[in-house]
Amino acid sequence: MNKLLSIIVPCYNEEEVLPIFMEAVTKVRDGLRNLPDAPCDTELLFVDDGSSDQSLEILKSFHRADSTVRYISFSRNFGKEAAILAGLKNIKGDYAVLMDADMQHPPELLLAMYKELISSKCDSVAMYRDDRKKEGFFRRHFSSLFFKLLNKMSKLNIVNGATDFRMMKRIMVNAVLSMPETNRFSKGIFNWVGFNTKWLPFETGERPVGRSKWSTGKLISYSFDALLSFSEVPLKICSWMGLIFCFIAFMIGIFHFIKTLIFGDPVAGFPTLYLMLLLIGGLILLFLGITGQYLARIYLEIKQRPVYIVKETESDTDKGE
Ligand code: UDP
Ligand code: MG
Repeated sequence: MNKLLSIIVPCYNEEEVLPIFMEAVTKVRDGLRNLPDAPCDTELLFVDDGSSDQSLEILKSFHRADSTVRYISFSRNFGKEAAILAGLKNIKGDYAVLMDADMQHPPELLLAMYKELISSKCDSVAMYRDDRKKEGFFRRHFSSLFFKLLNKMSKLNIVNGATDFRMMKRIMVNAVLSMPETNRFSKGIFNWVGFNTKWLPFETGERPVGRSKWSTGKLISYSFDALLSFSEVPLKICSWMGLIFCFIAFMIGIFHFIKTLIFGDPVAGFPTLYLMLLLIGGLILLFLGITGQYLARIYLEIKQRPVYIVKETESDTDKGE
């Protein structure tokens, strides 16, 4: 029997691009089925991340036309990370691949990724962007700084330009699913679980229609989440700075003690005094803030809220609801 590859596609308001994507991916599915030495069956699992446009209706019509096209629809927008988790949890395949619906992860690359995955000894084939020049100045520099910082501050080692476009064997999917955290940074999780990953460069396609759902603000807060969920370095910096300031205070104390013994005690140095007060006060607030960020995340994790809520799946369409 042929192996089964599950193609997971998170979608958020992608009504315009879905038909284009479907056409392209159908060709690739035929190609995979007809591979001479290792033909492979595929299933498509779309995760509708609470779209407010016609995306869900389109997905339903896909399923009616072809039962190997499945979908899960969320009760609201939970974010791409939640959609990835829902996808991985609900597939049946021996292999899984994650890809965007907007054609920026070119579907025809699936063939090359699949061949690489089954012929080499790796457990996963991941794609990194080789075309950062296409991005805006701010985004390009911000994201390469982010990857450098993240790799320095955590045990992760993520390739610059890494994307979520990745094909995995079942064993790795299960490992990813065994990570219970609700605040999920998938690029970090894929790295953390280990296994052999083969990195291949690719050029992101142009989005034919629609626009990116990531604003600059969203990107920055995503980066903070990633950093705080994989690194304790900010906390260590707080402790070290605390220690250094205590040491400086101690030395200044000794200095003044000796100075008073020798020269007496004329009242001077008010500016220094209030500057130090301001500086130390500021630092204390900053460090409390950093500690608070971790605390907030512990709070959210401990509540054990579900990462997403499913409103309907293709089985509802089958039942005719
Ligand atoms: N996406 C999603 N939920 C969101 C935002 C995006 O499922 O809250 C999906 C989106 O439909 C697309 C993929 O994630 O298939 C990548 O999104 P986008 O193209 O907006 O991001 P970019 O390519 O700019 O990183
Ligand atoms: Mg995109």
